[in-house]
Amino acid sequence: MNKQNRRRFLRNIASIPAIVMANKLLIRGGQSSNANHLSMTNSNYEPGYIQLQKTGELKARGEILHERMRSCDLCPRDCETNRIRGRRGDCNAHGHLEISSASPHYGEERELVGSRGSGTVFFTNCALLCVFCINYEISQQGRGQRQSIDDLADMMLFLQRHGCHNINIVSPTHYIPHILLALDKAVPRGLHLPLVYNTSGWEKKEVLEFLDGVVDIYLSDFKYDDAEAADKYSPGAYSYPEVTKEALTEMNRQVGVAHADEDTGLIYKGLMIRHLVMPENVARSDRVVRWIAQNLPKDTYVNIMSQYTPMFKAFDYPEIARRITRSEYRNVVTIARNAGLTNLRQQMI
Ligand code: SF4
Repeated sequence: MNKQNRRRFLRNIASIPAIVMANKLLIRGGQSSNANHLSMTNSNYEPGYIQLQKTGELKARGEILHERMRSCDLCPRDCETNRIRGRRGDCNAHGHLEISSASPHYGEERELVGSRGSGTVFFTNCALLCVFCINYEISQQGRGQRQSIDDLADMMLFLQRHGCHNINIVSPTHYIPHILLALDKAVPRGLHLPLVYNTSGWEKKEVLEFLDGVVDIYLSDFKYDDAEAADKYSPGAYSYPEVTKEALTEMNRQVGVAHADEDTGLIYKGLMIRHLVMPENVARSDRVVRWIAQNLPKDTYVNIMSQYTPMFKAFDYPEIARRITRSEYRNVVTIARNAGLTNLRQQMI
């Protein structure tokens, strides 16, 4: 988007009541004249990235990671693609940002959604390649539009003006350099919302270390504790259990346990784990919840999710071509409770 188009885009979004993405960007907007004030009243919490921007650290980290796209090793696939030269890696990402949508989102955990929504940016492409992905058009079929780093900064600021309680970056791993550089541009213009890093959990520890002090809330899946299942349903991700356990440990070290603010009901900092229960216990949910209980604080926030729905290529795998049963779900909750987890979120089934 050139400067003129960006100015036009920013003028237009303030008057748009609701837009859903197809191949054009964004937005849900409107009714936000006092939104900046509303989000300010949520808390006095100040995200760590503000100080890192002032010292130049944020930009420096972003530039180091940007260089690494010349032989990309940002995710555990380590495919060494030269994205800067325009080649697409195993995740289908090249060197430029591609984004599917940016809008207030009300379908996340209530401690992120509040009354004004979680300011969600859906990035195109994903490294995990799950055969049952419900967002496969975005994650694996390239739905989205090329955007600049300035555009991403504009989107973050728009979501803040709208009154969203946080900036929620979905499938961010392959665009970490761009995200850091966009934050660097948005902070001097007033960005102050907590940053939610919404990830599959398959993250390299040494890359996560670049996010120390930048990310306020890690919202991470822990999908499988079975390497063969990971490799089968997320082709090539045999390392998922091992890598994700190390990543969750690092996330917990950085941000600690997530607790909701007593006044606002919102979470501003901490680790939030999601586990999606799958049919026939293919994900080994019993091992997932026991590992969390034995290796992270017992009051770690864990959302046990029941909404598994066969989508995309799931019908090629008969054992996961159905929804879960009530007893499959309840069994996982019981195991989690018996393991000592105290900060569980359950869903209706
Ligand atoms: S982020 Fe994409 S390009 Fe980089 S190593 Fe992973 S799959 Fe390859």
